[in-house]
Amino acid sequence: MIKATTKEERTTHRKGNGVTVRKVLVLILIISLVWFILDFLVINFYNGQEDDYNINLPLDERAFSSRGNNSIPLGKNNGNMPLGKNNGARIVPDKDVKPKLARLLNKRNQQNNTKTGNLTNVESEKDRAAGIPEEENPKGFHFVRYYDKPTKPRNESGPGERGFPYKTRKEEQKLVDQQWNNNYFNEYVSDLISVERSLTDIRPSACKDLKISNVLPKTSVIICFCEESWSTLLRSVHSVMSRSPPELLEEIILIDDFSQREHLKEPLDKYMAQFPIVKVVHLKERHGLVRARIVGVGMSKASVLTFLDSHIECSVGWLEPLLQRIKEDKRNVVCPIIDAIDSTTLRYGQTSNTMVGSFTWSFTFTWYNFNADQVARLPSVTSPIKSPTMAGGLFSIDKDYFKELGMYDEGFEVWGAENLELSFKIWMCGGQLEILPCSRVGHIFRKRQPYSFPDNDNVKTFHHNTLRLVEVWVDEPYKTAFFDHVPDMYGVDPGDVSERKAIRQMLQCKSFQWFLDNVCPWKELPVFTYRAKGTVWIYIYIYRQNKFHLFWLLDF
Ligand code: UDP
Ligand code: MN
Repeated sequence: MIKATTKEERTTHRKGNGVTVRKVLVLILIISLVWFILDFLVINFYNGQEDDYNINLPLDERAFSSRGNNSIPLGKNNGNMPLGKNNGARIVPDKDVKPKLARLLNKRNQQNNTKTGNLTNVESEKDRAAGIPEEENPKGFHFVRYYDKPTKPRNESGPGERGFPYKTRKEEQKLVDQQWNNNYFNEYVSDLISVERSLTDIRPSACKDLKISNVLPKTSVIICFCEESWSTLLRSVHSVMSRSPPELLEEIILIDDFSQREHLKEPLDKYMAQFPIVKVVHLKERHGLVRARIVGVGMSKASVLTFLDSHIECSVGWLEPLLQRIKEDKRNVVCPIIDAIDSTTLRYGQTSNTMVGSFTWSFTFTWYNFNADQVARLPSVTSPIKSPTMAGGLFSIDKDYFKELGMYDEGFEVWGAENLELSFKIWMCGGQLEILPCSRVGHIFRKRQPYSFPDNDNVKTFHHNTLRLVEVWVDEPYKTAFFDHVPDMYGVDPGDVSERKAIRQMLQCKSFQWFLDNVCPWKELPVFTYRAKGTVWIYIYIYRQNKFHLFWLLDF
């Protein structure tokens, strides 16, 4: 039962409460104001200029620029990778992070002023060459071979031969459009071009002097594919078969990642049955790139693994330089230069010889073009170039070493981040990653991918993978930089990464700071780009009839 009170009682009661409430409110007001002023000062002190990421791009365009689409202006962050929209979540960086970052930034600037463009302070070429056994040097060497043997004679005047573009006529455009969405490149034109077309040799001419040991390890080539076009897949396989010295090629393992297109089922099995060196595996459920590759590793026989995408073309002389570097040191992980096959005309185009892999502070892959100083420091045009990261699609690695490094994080879904995980891991755990200008493989870069993603959300998948990578391999303050750039990921659970962390600990890998200082000292450190975001309490007191009224909340 509600107790009745007199008017006086109620007034006295309110008066008493009013005084206490007023004290509490004033206290909260003071605390909030102090907090807000401090917060404002800190943010303004550390806040750099806006970066050039465009978070307003539509999802499709944002999501897939492809790892390493090098049709973008060189040396600039491509930035059209998934970034996530700021959902207003408040980011609270680790207390020590910002001052630490400022110190690092100063230190780095000082260093850069004195030694601009120093590539790495890892072993010199000479030290590396000394790793070649005496008895094989120089007697057991040969010049890199020009090996190119198609199964049938080529028609040198056919469409796309010598890597030339095929330009469609107006009346063909409808056919082009009809097939475009099958793979987001010009499938119609690809189907017109021979699967064994010739390519112009675009290697630097000094590559012909490259010395290769007579005894090299064999490689298993692993190509995973999902909904790939018939002609691009066949051209990939044929280019491996026709341009690899046979004694170096153990097998080509094709892993079909649960594709639904009819030609990738029986017709593919029948076609490949002609070539005993090719093995086709059809996965019974979708694995995603990483787990599909791991299936391939499990089947492989050779001591070196070579991963390739399913829409590539190996150029003449591509394989020997890769195997040579691995023979010299099994901790060398090596990539060919990825030439760009135009997605519309299928033209095989040359890519810069002095470009390495880098990454943005949202931990997406980018290319970095060496400046003149850096180029001048390269020993020669044919020398391996140390690259902080790899694009991910095409590389060779010693199988035991790959396993030692824990291969890939099997928690990675479908596509993305595995290339940075492997790159960081290689450098931080005692290996090195190189790009070899004398080994060249063309790749069709495209704007988006033809296969499905979990929850139909390619951005979310990419972010999930990246979060796992950052959780394990990136240390503070750079971890905070990631959350700063991709605020959507703040507070998101990466899943269990304990096994991945155990690998890092077991191998006693170096810190992420070591990686930055030693492998990419030229890289700009992150700037915190967020503005004040959150809630401001504005208190408006109205003194009326012996009472304080009203406070007001503003969210922005
Ligand atoms: N891939 C796969 N399963 C997947 C996603 C990709 O087997 O779930 C294959 C794909 O067919 C291609 C390679 O992995 O051969 C790399 O993917 P993609 O070419 O789409 O990546 P990008 O070159 O754009 O980075
Ligand atoms: Mn690809």
